[in-house]
Amino acid sequence: MGNRFPARDRFADGAQFIDGRLRPGTSGRTHAVVDPATGRELFTYELAGPADVDAAVAAALAAYPGWAGATPGERSDALHRFAAVLAERATEFAEAESLQCGKPIKLSTEFDVPGTVDNAAFFAGAARHPEGASAGEYSADHTSYVRREPIGVVGSIAPWNYPLQMAAWKILPAVAAGNTIVLKPSELTPFTSLLFAQAAQEAGIPDGVINIVNGAGADAGEHLVGHPDVVMTSFTGSTAVGKRVAEIATATVKRLHLELGGKAPFLVFDDADLEAAVHGAVAGSLINTGQDCTAATRAYVQRPLYDAFVSAVAALMETVRLGDPFAPSTDMGPLISHAHRDRVAGIVERARGYARVVTGGSAPDGADLADGAYYLPTLVVDAAQDSEIVQSEIFGPVLVVLAFDSDDEGIRLANDTPYGLAASVWSRDVYRTGRATREIKAGCVWVNDHIPIISEMPHGGYKASGYGKDMSAYSFEEYTQVKHVMYDNTGAARKDWHRTIFGDRP
Ligand code: NAD
Repeated sequence: MGNRFPARDRFADGAQFIDGRLRPGTSGRTHAVVDPATGRELFTYELAGPADVDAAVAAALAAYPGWAGATPGERSDALHRFAAVLAERATEFAEAESLQCGKPIKLSTEFDVPGTVDNAAFFAGAARHPEGASAGEYSADHTSYVRREPIGVVGSIAPWNYPLQMAAWKILPAVAAGNTIVLKPSELTPFTSLLFAQAAQEAGIPDGVINIVNGAGADAGEHLVGHPDVVMTSFTGSTAVGKRVAEIATATVKRLHLELGGKAPFLVFDDADLEAAVHGAVAGSLINTGQDCTAATRAYVQRPLYDAFVSAVAALMETVRLGDPFAPSTDMGPLISHAHRDRVAGIVERARGYARVVTGGSAPDGADLADGAYYLPTLVVDAAQDSEIVQSEIFGPVLVVLAFDSDDEGIRLANDTPYGLAASVWSRDVYRTGRATREIKAGCVWVNDHIPIISEMPHGGYKASGYGKDMSAYSFEEYTQVKHVMYDNTGAARKDWHRTIFGDRP
């Protein structure tokens, strides 16, 4: 299997990108990046510790006045150049992403990288288009207007499932709005965030505007969230860690943006196009080996279609080709690590005690994939709504199918988890889909599809999936603050309203 990205050469100076240069971390601890497809060690680096976070925040603070003071046009030009550099380097980005995540090269090449280039182009445009209220006389004696300003130094924390896109979603709106940033990627996947920051430098974005600290969560991560010079925390990751991040950020009164876990329902009404729903369920549940916060995880199928849906999904899952992530024909790669594969397998094993595994439910046979963290596409039925496999985020290639009778019941079950990130509804009836899209509590509801995202539209959760938006103009706004400026128009030294505080009418 291929080792297509020469990480040891590219990051020979270290895996921290602070003030425009690579350097080693100073935590005194190292981390070995392991290829999940082979179990082979790819690259060992010195993890960032608190001192590296301090250096990165200091660099971001120093760069802030210059970057915040650049005109929207200047920031936009830099982001346009950035998009062009990313597009030129598409192959390198795709290979580095596939290597560290075990992601099929066709997914990196056709989804992760072009999505990132498009995001850069989108935020190049957004930089020139800050939204604000009109200036006006809202009191007879004053003129008011709103300034939309950057916030300062942003501290962001990202997960391992889409390291490149997560770096893009965090960094691009923040810097488009004039902020500077310190991003802590997951320590498991340091490569593409570093390449991303280097590409920004090549595009002419000044040193210190984008800094990357690759360190552990409890160490570098908590230090970044609690840092007094960081004014906003933007976190994407699990709900459990998000709660911890929220505690620390709240104690230091930071603006907080949380993109947390998901358990997306996939609601199939009895008038749906069965073939479309079956293909959508397999694609939606297996994308990125199921390690996608919006992946279809719970299919609720109205009773008349239930049996046909289960057998067709199982048959289609069995055609999915597991293999070397670098082989163009590979549909599904390994999970991110052997430990995570064992966690997913554990949930399925426990489910055997109360549900039925229709297909999958184990690592694949055969010697060629034996060293990788592979797990077969897995379909589970007959689980109760309150069971672990229906309620907990699995983050693996596992779909549970349940039956429902009335539309009321289907919508109620779809809403019946703590999460609310994404959902889909499948029907040809505009009134049914209209009702379901209104009543499902999730930040995104697809109709007759599941997964597509687009730079212009917001991504973010309801309920325990967090708050705040990535991508889109809504995300740009998250990284700005609005200031009310109010001018006295009268020139009077003794103003009428002063009498409410002292004295009488002038
Ligand atoms: P995780 O919560 O374990 O880690 C996320 C990040 O937080 C990592 O960088 C990690 O090092 C850091 N971290 C861990 N402990 C920390 C602490 N105490 N303080 C500060 N930072 C800490 O999540 P993961 O396993 O990397 O990613 C999978 C999770 O991410 C899933 O729950 C998935 O749903 C979620 N996710 C959500 C979205 C979304 O947009 N809502 C997108 C992708 C992934």
